[in-house]
Amino acid sequence: MARRAYHRRVSSRHHDVYHPANWIPPEGSWASSDAIRRTMLKNRNRDTAPEVALRSAIHRLGLRYRVAARPIPGIRRTADLVFPRRRIAVFVDGCFWHGCPVHFVMPKTNEGYWRPKVARNVERDRSTDAALHAAGWEVIRIWEHESVDEAAKFVEAVVKNRVSSRPRTRPPSPRR
Ligand SMILES: [Zn+2]
Repeated sequence: MARRAYHRRVSSRHHDVYHPANWIPPEGSWASSDAIRRTMLKNRNRDTAPEVALRSAIHRLGLRYRVAARPIPGIRRTADLVFPRRRIAVFVDGCFWHGCPVHFVMPKTNEGYWRPKVARNVERDRSTDAALHAAGWEVIRIWEHESVDEAAKFVEAVVKNRVSSRPRTRPPSPRR
């Protein structure tokens, strides 16, 4: 399965001075309606509109998952959706915070502040990916601008193609 390059939305705990006025959401983005945008800004740590929409779509496909969970207890990174048995972590990445190549626009003011901040987020994303891969996890990153239905189908395909990491039945042990 071909992997697309994704970036993840980083928890807003680290971004107290985010000024949404600096960023214009892409046409058709979940964030493009003022109401949704306000909701996103109020509660940025989790349950953002893109995450909720993707979770619902994946749930409608009959898949079950954990929400906002740490894939690996020892690694302090939280994925938006986790399929523990298949070891798949899904991240929904906001276009601004994760430096979307299509939509990220550097704010006109305080570039010296924003540029390293977003760069650190992207670095952190890549280090999360590397840590999860090293532990045998599959990482899926979805941009907030992507179509919910397509993203949900993509996740479904990965889940269905991936062999469970913890088979329910063990192979019979050889008898003597
Ligand atoms: Zn984008």
